[in-house]
Amino acid sequence: MIATGSIAVPSQVAPCKVLLVCPRFIGRSFWNFDAACDVMGAKAPAPPLGLLTVAALLPPNWECRLVNRNTDALTEVDLDWADMVMTGGMMPQRGDLLAVIALAQARGKPVVVGGPDVTSSPEAYEQADLRVLGEAEGIIGELISAWDAGVREGIFTAEKFTIDVTKTPIPRYDLLKRGDYTYWGVQFSRGCPFTCEFCDIIELYGRVPRAKTVDQILAELETVYRLGYRGHLDFVDDNFIGNKKAVKALLPHVIEWQKAHDYPFEFSTEASINLSDDDALLALMREANFFAVFIGIESPDTETLIPTQKKQNTRRSLADSVHKIYAAGMFVCAGFIVGFDSEKENVAEGMVGCIEATAIPVCSLGLLFALPNTQLTRRLEREGRMFPALLANELIERSWGDQCTTGLNFRTLRPRRDILVDYRTAFASVYRLDAYYARLRRVTSMLRRPLRRSPFPGPQIAGTTFRDLQLFVRLWWRVALHQPQALGPLARAFYWALRYNRGAVKAVFSMAAFYLHLGPFSRYVIEVLDKRIAALDADDDAFEHIAGDSAVAQLPAIALAGD
Ligand code: SF4
Repeated sequence: MIATGSIAVPSQVAPCKVLLVCPRFIGRSFWNFDAACDVMGAKAPAPPLGLLTVAALLPPNWECRLVNRNTDALTEVDLDWADMVMTGGMMPQRGDLLAVIALAQARGKPVVVGGPDVTSSPEAYEQADLRVLGEAEGIIGELISAWDAGVREGIFTAEKFTIDVTKTPIPRYDLLKRGDYTYWGVQFSRGCPFTCEFCDIIELYGRVPRAKTVDQILAELETVYRLGYRGHLDFVDDNFIGNKKAVKALLPHVIEWQKAHDYPFEFSTEASINLSDDDALLALMREANFFAVFIGIESPDTETLIPTQKKQNTRRSLADSVHKIYAAGMFVCAGFIVGFDSEKENVAEGMVGCIEATAIPVCSLGLLFALPNTQLTRRLEREGRMFPALLANELIERSWGDQCTTGLNFRTLRPRRDILVDYRTAFASVYRLDAYYARLRRVTSMLRRPLRRSPFPGPQIAGTTFRDLQLFVRLWWRVALHQPQALGPLARAFYWALRYNRGAVKAVFSMAAFYLHLGPFSRYVIEVLDKRIAALDADDDAFEHIAGDSAVAQLPAIALAGD
């Protein structure tokens, strides 16, 4: 069944109990930040905003429960309660998503799957009873009517890029347990105007960003606020500034709302580097209380970037652009990729040089992974360079961590061993403790963050609450326990920030918490890379022996709680 982009949900349907299950992220990943979650007293970084949005689209007489397998166990009692199980997610969740389907079906429950990975690779989910492809709003009405009429299998496909997000309801934040996550999310827009060859966002959501209205966003902020959540709120947009006009129209209202509520939220987001070209936008984001932004830099080399169609990052000094964002009060986390066809032999040197010059402590350094449903994959298929799907699927289902350990799922142009060695060199250099803390110190000196009261409720002394002090003590305790060699650099960074730039104190806290995860994670990545290189040297390359047996060893048991 194919539907258009209207959001029409039938109201006269029989009641139904829907169990929404968020699958586990399998394997160790740059992004799971377990040690940072531990410092914050949380179980996972972020809630499943997609499932919360789907829950909000269901008829009012359908009862919903949420089980997030990253924070809680899925039990037989949960499954026995449900009439229908709805699940979905991203590629790093595929292994567990398939396990959830099997567990639900074993208890006789029909399973509906959707989300980005199901949309990009529907063939991987043939065993699901009902598959929803595309944005849920565009097809949910048809799915509900079909379910009500007794349909228990089929594929429901939403028309691409036509969903009117101004009709999207407020996600069901009430289904969340407040303390489970380090931050909550809101979404303003979908889609991105750029054309990066390796990106699946533009294939899934299109190149014309579609934005919610000001009223919708304010209502979402108000809902989250009324539920008692305070602190870090992430705008999960893939490119928050994809439609600058819409963002500039939104931000003055967010500023007004923040002021009226005494700044309960600190925002982060993802944006393209041309954010630094727009002084007015930077000023608005500063005033709205954005404190961090993720930027895809990918490569410092223009000749590498042009063939990948990431032209927006060329013709500029990356260091100047990033420093300008620091000056607007936001620290930058950045993505870099090794393995492009167009990269040169000095890739490691250039990348480390760029990371040092920009002084970005938290860099997601990854190996290029040709994602399904991208221009890159289509080109590599035409050139006959993609590895057999079977091999890549085995990797994704069994051991996927992220592109740090499992990238290069295609025949490379440069010698594969050289790429892995260059990547290893860059990773080892960037995540040496002294190098990381030196960048942290430099960013602390450049960050011009306004001093604000703590967002947490309760009495404040000098803008600080008991909760801030509690987190501060937890951080020091964890560093003393797990990274005693970091105590000196951390103490110096805190002292410097307290004395000369108090607005940067929180950034020091965040980045030290990140390093509790990134220090051990970098050693793990290097171990996996050594195995991959050894597999190549031993001529044992079935995709380097399933990517150096990377995460297989630490694959969590996939079973119902109590099994
Ligand atoms: S800027 Fe980011 S979201 Fe936009 S196309 Fe490039 S990689 Fe994708």
